[in-house]
This record gives sequence, structure tokens and C-alpha cells, in this order.
Amino acid sequence: MFKPVQANHNFIEMEHKWLRYWYEEGIVDKYLHKNDNSDKYFSFLDGPITANNPMGVHHAWGRTYKDLWPKFYNLLGFRQRFQNGFDCQGLWVEVEVEKELGLKSKKDIENLVSGDRFASIAKFVDLCKKRVYRFSKIQTEQSKRLGYFADWQHSYYTMSDENNYMIWTFLKKCYENGWIYKGQESVPWCPRCQTAISQHEILTEDYKEVVHEAIYIKFKLKTQMSNVKTKEKDNKPDEYLLVWTTTPWTIPANIAITLDEDFDYSLVEVKSGERYWLATNLVKNVLGDDVKQIVKTVKGKELIGLKYEGPFDHLPAVSKVAKEYPHNFHTVVATDKKILPISLEEGTGLVHTAVSAGTEDYKLGKKLGLPMIPVIDDEANYLDGLGEFSFKNAKKNPRLILDYMEKNGFAYKIHNYKHRYPACWRCKTELVWKVAEEWYIAMDKPSNLKLKTQMSKLNKMTLRERMIAVAKRIKWMPEFGLQRELDWLKNMDDWLISKKNRYWGLSLPIYECKHCGHFTVIGSKEELKEKAVEGWDKFEGHSPHKPYIDLVKIKCEKCGKVVFRIEDVGNPWLDAGIVPYSTITENNQGEPLYKIDKEKWQKWFPADFITESFPGQFKNWFYALIAMSTVMENEPPFKRVLGFGTLLGEDGRPMHKSWGNAIEFNEGADKIGVDVMRWMYARQNPSENMLFGYKKADEVRRQFYLILWNVYKFFIDYVNLDKPKFNFQVREGKTKVSLKNLKLNILDKWILSRFVFLVEFVEQSLKNFDARGAALEIERFVSDLSTWYIRQSRGRVWVNSNDKDDKEAFYNTIYYILVNLSIILSPFIPFVSEEMYKNLTDRESVHLEFWPEVEKEFYDKNLEEEMEKARRIVESGHAKRKSLGVKVRMPLSTLTIETEVNPKLIREEIWPIILSELNVKNIVVNQDFRYPKTEVKVSEEELKKEGELRELIRRIQAKRKEMGLKPNQPIRVTVPKEFQPFKEEIKRKVVASNITFGESLIVEI
Ligand SMILES: [Zn+2]
Ligand SMILES: [Zn+2]
Repeated sequence: MFKPVQANHNFIEMEHKWLRYWYEEGIVDKYLHKNDNSDKYFSFLDGPITANNPMGVHHAWGRTYKDLWPKFYNLLGFRQRFQNGFDCQGLWVEVEVEKELGLKSKKDIENLVSGDRFASIAKFVDLCKKRVYRFSKIQTEQSKRLGYFADWQHSYYTMSDENNYMIWTFLKKCYENGWIYKGQESVPWCPRCQTAISQHEILTEDYKEVVHEAIYIKFKLKTQMSNVKTKEKDNKPDEYLLVWTTTPWTIPANIAITLDEDFDYSLVEVKSGERYWLATNLVKNVLGDDVKQIVKTVKGKELIGLKYEGPFDHLPAVSKVAKEYPHNFHTVVATDKKILPISLEEGTGLVHTAVSAGTEDYKLGKKLGLPMIPVIDDEANYLDGLGEFSFKNAKKNPRLILDYMEKNGFAYKIHNYKHRYPACWRCKTELVWKVAEEWYIAMDKPSNLKLKTQMSKLNKMTLRERMIAVAKRIKWMPEFGLQRELDWLKNMDDWLISKKNRYWGLSLPIYECKHCGHFTVIGSKEELKEKAVEGWDKFEGHSPHKPYIDLVKIKCEKCGKVVFRIEDVGNPWLDAGIVPYSTITENNQGEPLYKIDKEKWQKWFPADFITESFPGQFKNWFYALIAMSTVMENEPPFKRVLGFGTLLGEDGRPMHKSWGNAIEFNEGADKIGVDVMRWMYARQNPSENMLFGYKKADEVRRQFYLILWNVYKFFIDYVNLDKPKFNFQVREGKTKVSLKNLKLNILDKWILSRFVFLVEFVEQSLKNFDARGAALEIERFVSDLSTWYIRQSRGRVWVNSNDKDDKEAFYNTIYYILVNLSIILSPFIPFVSEEMYKNLTDRESVHLEFWPEVEKEFYDKNLEEEMEKARRIVESGHAKRKSLGVKVRMPLSTLTIETEVNPKLIREEIWPIILSELNVKNIVVNQDFRYPKTEVKVSEEELKKEGELRELIRRIQAKRKEMGLKPNQPIRVTVPKEFQPFKEEIKRKVVASNITFGESLIVEI
């Protein structure tokens, strides 16, 4: 006897019931250790989730994959680590803690404990840690709700000592190779966070659409172009270079004006009589009606080398540079198209170039040897030496410059301009560019080390080249992933690894001597202890974070002076990139195996599989993993990556609270149900963005989940009435339903063939990391099971049949399928598969089982093809009936159809199914084929009676349903007199205890 299935089964309650069971009864623990003695390893490496907020439904997509494959490999008997990770350190946490505390700036943080900077920083760092613990707890609970089984007690945290010290080891190796250097660059900078935003961190989604005032600036030429050519003197009007910029605050930093040598440039006289140079193609665009005449047109290269005056030449900071670099100060230069392509769509074709205040400007300046004028400090205030502008904020007061430009006649036109402008990815403040001293890992420098033997081929290779070689050894899914990664690897700059003015992060182990300039990198806690000359006692017992780590001082190797650690913290991607080295430990605890038992570590390295959302990760996690593993071992950190797209609202827009299309995870889980949610993710094409919402969830529920459930319910409803025998065995921990000695009919054989194929197909697909392929095939199977197998088998159950052997064949077939189907569904939809499996088998849990070993001999390709043909004939038959206007419940003597299917290819045994489905006595296909061979003759009268009887029974069954009766609950019926001859048949089929005959139909209990 199986537990009956309620008509109004509550799926959400069911999910909570199993969650309690799994954790209270230790099922998850048993699952984690089920294959501890296996010698097959499946190494999954988790990309850490940022423990800074509750998780969203977009996280649930990746986390479904992160649970699906471990569950699958657990069924296959592989040993695994099941380790989840949390990303902990970095600006994102600081920003949230600042918000919570209502802090506005660095000064506030450093005064958290009034007047005590050290205690303030200690407290702030501690609050950051606490925030991480708080949200990692919430995310853990949410992940459990998702049905995600992992070693939740031993998740890794990137803030752990082990992780931080392993990054030190990496940085030390970089140092030994000669790749770590300090550089001065113009970097994107957040004036609120007061820190550089590295190139990796600026994603397209961090641009916001804003309106700024843009300006057309007049730069007066010192030498007039027309005079250069004609050698005439001073008898022509002034000429100006007309230059456009959307960032007027950078004008004081102007060094050069850049043009494209191959473009045409024209000198245009406007109505005021002034003459402007600009790209010929843009004259109309910029000057419009103001054009009086075009004086002349030349190739860009003829303007190269011209000198001009700037609006701020009188300011000390500017004139100082003018004096130091007279030959290339305020000069017209030619661009390098690869660095700074010049547009003919907007602007003037003459580009304001401020080497200190722009990435491209900086690169071009570096190439051409142009000097820079630093203009702003960490908070974007103008520096000393900029006259009336000094100490005023460049970004907050854009009018500061514009008013000056207007008042002094340097502006041709100022207008509002809408554009996409980069913002800080955490606090959304608009970025500026400023000159900063930062630490980098060099990508294009061969190593200082001369490796021997088999590694010697690396000697001539730069880190970039080594990384490219490593990236190519990884299997990327989808395949375009490799190209995307290579594009990044080929074009990225040196890795900016430092962050200034921050507190919560990796303490970069760089010790720079203020006295002689020498710097060294410390590679481990042990090394620091050994080299410490001061402060170790005060540091010991603390994590390697600010402020305690900074108490430790060492001695300069060169000059012997006492040296401090640099103030900076590390780029947060260092934290996540090192995890293949730092987090693989014995039982997910303690010291990294990489450090203490390399041989054991190698069993898990490289990881077999990682999976993350593609956008962003090419520049972030994938990049950091590859960079760090290349330096550590010159090995790929993972063998295969499955990337997936972005989750959008079902309206196709990004999810946004204010747009009403965002779904909070807990709410989504309890409204949609986690099984359905997981199925949505599993069936999604990962290389495409996913539309997610309640309507989409309803579709999936209707089109798959409820169909599956109804098949199961049908089985349970009738099996409990018919009580057939089952042959369920457990051998060596593996379960098996035996189908020996059963009188299987053609439908049973067909569905078994379909099922055997399915199990193999799903196994193969999952081994190829194709969840979608597997899910869609399961959907096809469940549809076949419901709409063909069960539909054709309704007549075989309970009161509809007296054939005991046939019943046994039916029930055993469907039992075999449901038991094994629950197992193969368990990685996808862990809750309903548990519900089904436990009721069917009374075993401990579906999640402690093994992948089914199915009887391959059931696979019958011919039978499947013939059944497919039969179904097409049935389709044609139904179409024919429709065209004749005769409902299916009306039996017909003969149906004649035309079809492309060759009926002779369908075996004899299948034809009765076709007849019964079409409710006909005879069928003639394509004129010459008929079944049965000898025509069955029935009179019109008999057919009519049969149809009416069928209709009557249908009506009684409908009433039973309306009254909410169980299948075996007897009724009393009164039926019209003319059905008297069918008394016994009616009684049996509608489960009536009493039948009387009268005028019309009455059904009662
Ligand atoms: Zn910021
Ligand atoms: Zn020194």
C-alpha cells in the first residue's frame, strides 16, 4: 500500500517537509560522505558568491548548476568535496558598512573610535567581517532552500588566513619573476571611495546615462597655419583649433590636441569673423548656419606640430610643465588609431588630450612621450598650483571651469549632452581619472628566473603569453568563451593589484623602503615572522588584515633601515583567483593541501568543472584564476567551464525593484516552488539570456511538472486499488525493479524502450554538461508517458479490466519507470523526486541512491519508429474525424485516411491501439491497406448504442469527479431504461453499488 496522493497536493509544503527531513535526519551528511571511499574523483570548484546581500533569483540559476552536477556525480559514485565559497573582502562590503553607520568619508572611518585611528580601523574591519558572516548565513539558508546540498559547515571564506597567505605566496612568485612593479598612471578613480577602479571592474552595466554640459573650446594657434604656408605676416585674422569635450573639468590638464593625419581638416570663417579649424566632415554638424566661408582645406598631417595657447597657461602648475617640456607642450599631434581612434560622428575631429586624466590619453601620452599635469587629488579637488581653482571640487562644480571659459572667451558653444558615463560599480559615483601610484603585475615582461629542464621553454615567455597558452587548454562552454577570454588576455593592461585608501581587504605583502626605494614581497606568514624586527608579538593571533598586520616591520635588505608594509590593500579578484590553491583541504578544513600534501591536492586539481555567469567573469574570476594558476604551476586551474547568460525579468528588461519585475529569492521560492524554479534553469539554453518570472514559471509547471505529477498520482490512485505484486530488490546498496516473467504488451515494451533510451541519453548529456539537452529529452519522455502510454492504458486498470496478468504487466512497467525516473530526476528537481521515490520504495532517500542500471535489451529502435508512425496515423485519423464533424466518442465502422506514412511498416500488434484511439472498427489507409484484414461488420444500430453507452459512462464519471469522489467510492445511479441490457457493464465501470432504471440520469452516494 502506497501513501495516497491528495488531489490538492501542496507542493510548497512538500518542499519544506523534505528540507526538514534532509537536515534533521542527517540525509545531507550521508549524501556528502556517500562515496568517501571511491577512487573516482569529481572536482567541482565554486566561484565564491559575494556575501554582502541576500541572494537573488539570478544566483539561483548558477547555484542550480552547482548542485545539479554534484548530485549527478554522486549518483555515479564519484567522491567529491561539495565546498561552497563566500567572497568576503573588498570595497563592496566597506561601502555597505559605511552606509549602515552613516559614514561619509575616510575621515569618518578613521574617527569611528573618537581620536583613535588604530582602534577605529580595527573596529571598521571587524564590522566588515561581521557583515560577511551575517550574509553568508542568510545565503546558506537560501541555498539550502534551493535544495542545494553542500558542506555548509565548511564553506570557504576568501577572508580566511589560508586564503590571504596563499595570495602572498602567489605575489612572491610574481616578485621572483620580476613582474611586480610600482607605476604612475592615469587611472579611473572613484572620488567617494577614494580608490582606483581597475580596468576589470568597469563593466558595461556600470555606465550610466547622464547629461553633462559639453563644450566646444577655442584654442588659439600661436602660429597661424596660413602664415606657415605663405610666409606672410600678421595680416590675417586669428585662427583657432575648435575642440570638443564632455569633461570640461579636465581642460586644465590639457597637454596636446590630437588629430587623425588622414582626415581632411578645414579652416572655416564664421559670422563673427573668427576662423576655426575642424574636420571637414564635421563642419556642418558643429557650425551649421554659422558658416560664412570655408577658407581652406588640408590633410590632417599638415597641422601636426602646430603650437597653441591654452586657457590656463598662466596657472603655476601648467606653466611649470610648459617650461619643462617646451618642445611638446600644447602641440598638435597625430593619433595612434589603435589607442585613440578619432570619430567623425561627433566632436570636431580634434581631440582634447589630457595625459593625466584619461585612459586613452595616458596611453597615447606614454607612447608619444608627452608630459602630464596632475590636476586633482583623491577626492577630485583641484590640486595646489591651479590658482582660483585649487582645492575646489572638479566634479561637483562643473560650472567652475565652464563659467571661466565663457567669461574669458574660450568657449565657442556649451550645450547639454547625454552620454554613457562610467560610474563606480559599488557606490555609483561618477568616476574621474587621476594620476596615481599603484602596484601592478607586468604582463609583457619575460621572467627574471631561468627555469631549468622541462620548464625552460617558459623562460622567454611573458606572463601574458603563458596565460594565453593555459587558457587554450581549457574546454570552454559555450565555445565562444575561449575567444572572449583570449580577446581579453591579448588586450588587457598590466594587472593593477593595489587599492589605495581602503581598509577591508588583502594586505598586500609589499614592503617598500622609504629610504633607498628597494621593495620586497613576503610570501607567507612564516616568512614574515622570520623577517619581523618589530611588532610580531602585537600582531600574533590576529588575521592578516589592517590594522594589526601593519604593526609588523622588517628590515630593508639593501640599506638595513626599518620598513613598513605599503598602506594599500589588494584587488579583490586576487582573493577569488587563488581558491584552487587555498581551499582544497582535508575535509574542507585546515591547511591547504597544496602546502602540506601536494600529491593529495593533485587529486582535486585542476578542477573538473566550474560554472559561472559569463558577463564580467572573463575579466574577473576566469581571468584571476588563469593568471594565478599560471604563475603558481603553469597549469589550467580548471578543465572545463560552463558559462551562462544573464537573468532578465520576463518582460525582457533587467530585474529592477522599481520596475516591478524583480523577484526576491525567498518569495520566488515559496511562490513558484523550488523544483519548478530549478527546472526552468535546467531547461534554459545557457548561452542565451534567460527571461524569468511568474508567468514563465506557470508554463513550466503546466507543461512538465504537473504532467509528471499526474502520472504519478494516476499510478498511486489505482495501484492502491488493484494491489499488484512488485519485484523490488536491493543488492549491494543498489535498488532494482525486476520485470522478469511479466506479460508485457506492445505499449509496455514501447515505453520501456523509450525509458531505457532516456536514461542513457540523460547520462550522456550530463556527462557533456548539457543540462538543457537532458531536460528537454525528459520532457519529451514524460509527455509520451502521459499522453500515449497512460492514456492507452487506462482500460487496463481496476474496474476497467479483469486481466490480472495484464494489470501486473502495466503496474510493474510504470513502477519500474517511476522508481528509476525519480532517481534520474533527483539532481534536477530534488523535492518531488524524493516525494515520489520514498513513497514508491520506502527507502531512506533518493539522494543516497545510485544511477539506475537499465536493461539495454529493452531498447527497440524499430518499435519506437513504428509507434511514431502509428501516432502519425492517429493524428491523420483525428483530423479526418474533425473534417467529417464526428466526435471521437461516436464509434465508426470504418475510417478511411490518406497519409504519407507507410502503414505496412507498422507491426500487427500496434493496430488495435490505433483502432481504439480512433474509436473505429476498421481502418483503411491509403486505399490499399486495411485493418483488420477481415472487415468487422457492425450495424448502424449497434454503433449508435455503443456510442450512447460510452457517452453515458463519461457523464457518470464526470459527475463522480464533480462530487469529489474517490475512484473506489460506490455510488447509486439511475439511468435511462434503454441501457438495461448493459446493466452489469455500467455497474462495474462506474463503481455503482446500486443501479435503477428510470427516465433520466441521477448520480448519488
Ligand atoms: Zn565609489
Ligand atoms: Zn632601504
